[in-house]
Amino acid sequence: MNPFIQSKLPTIGTTIFTVMTSLAAEYRSVNLGQGFPDFEMSEQLVELVNTAMKKGNNQYVHMNGLQLLRERISEKIHTLYNTSIDPDKEITITPGGTYAIYTALTTVLQPGDEVIVFEPAYDSYIPNIVINGAIPVLIPLIHPEYKIDWQLVRNKISPKTKMIMLNTPHNPTGSILSKEDIEQLRSIVNDTNIFILSDEVYEHLIFDGKQHESMLRYPDLLERSFICFSFGKTYHCTGWKLGYCIAPASLMKEFRKVHQFNCFSCNSPAQFALAEFLQQKEAYLQVGKLLQQKRDHFQGLMQQTKFKALPSYGSYFQLYDYSNISNEKENDFAVRLTKEYGVTVIPVSAFYQTETNNNVVRFCFAKKNTTLEEAVNKLITI
Ligand code: PMP
Ligand code: GLN
Repeated sequence: MNPFIQSKLPTIGTTIFTVMTSLAAEYRSVNLGQGFPDFEMSEQLVELVNTAMKKGNNQYVHMNGLQLLRERISEKIHTLYNTSIDPDKEITITPGGTYAIYTALTTVLQPGDEVIVFEPAYDSYIPNIVINGAIPVLIPLIHPEYKIDWQLVRNKISPKTKMIMLNTPHNPTGSILSKEDIEQLRSIVNDTNIFILSDEVYEHLIFDGKQHESMLRYPDLLERSFICFSFGKTYHCTGWKLGYCIAPASLMKEFRKVHQFNCFSCNSPAQFALAEFLQQKEAYLQVGKLLQQKRDHFQGLMQQTKFKALPSYGSYFQLYDYSNISNEKENDFAVRLTKEYGVTVIPVSAFYQTETNNNVVRFCFAKKNTTLEEAVNKLITI
């Protein structure tokens, strides 16, 4: 440790996704840990990027993102949510959803501000709050349905509450917000200055005919929201690291002040390609059906094991309870599963700040059927 550097994140280690993927590589296990598809993305979208590069679309685009891409996103939002979003003032293209979240937090947070965060929480949220000098106020989702206890939210609101962070569909649990949740949220934030950060990167990965309760549907919520999306999740190209943030003009103006000196503008050929590809509605509408089939196939296979499924209504994750197998801590169990049985998962305890053990681990089912089958064949032996 260099004695001259004072860590801004002294308690933070390496993200669980990198830890488990490295372990998977070391033990050559089947990696159902980190969330990324192992099947191919659309060949046509790959072709579109190649074409964009060959046509010479290789220089900076506008710092807010390619105009045509922002227009096409605005059209898509109108089709899906019947909401008008101004492509000039209310959309910014970002290098991924994580960056959009970080930038939104950095835009609004002042030292000492409180941010309500539900646990288990996607692992970037809390470090992103802390690095801005703000204070995460942690509220546990109620296991095993992982619902929000709105009375507890009311109790935790204080004059310092600057923001509430939401994530629907939810990583790691696969839970989703319902209409009742939205009504509760509305009644809580009404007549306050509280902002909302809504992480909706899994907007299309929603199952069983459920509706995605986007902040985009509710003008009174939208007016105080930063909503973050990821093309990586929608088009099976997580390595592209492209996404976008939507916020009302007055908030987006401030967001862009932060963005312009951190990223300025994102990969241009991919933006040309996505602008073209967004016109094909089926491509994003199909993805929920595909992932639902994957979830169902995986759940069917897993019935042969001692793992117990918890509900998953969205995202590409499924939690499983392993209490019929072991009482070990989640992290110990996950490591042993890789080392002894050749299957990698994510311990849900990694998404909590304090030690928590519900005997549940997260599986990513966005994988080829053969990968899922290979994993389950190993899990049957436990
Ligand atoms: N939020 C959640 C809940 C996620 O699971 C992910 C996936 N990594 C992201 C944000 C960020 O996505 P991106 O890879 O586009 O940064
Ligand atoms: N969102 C992915 C997951 O939850 C991983 C992204 C990452 O590794 N940062 O597994």
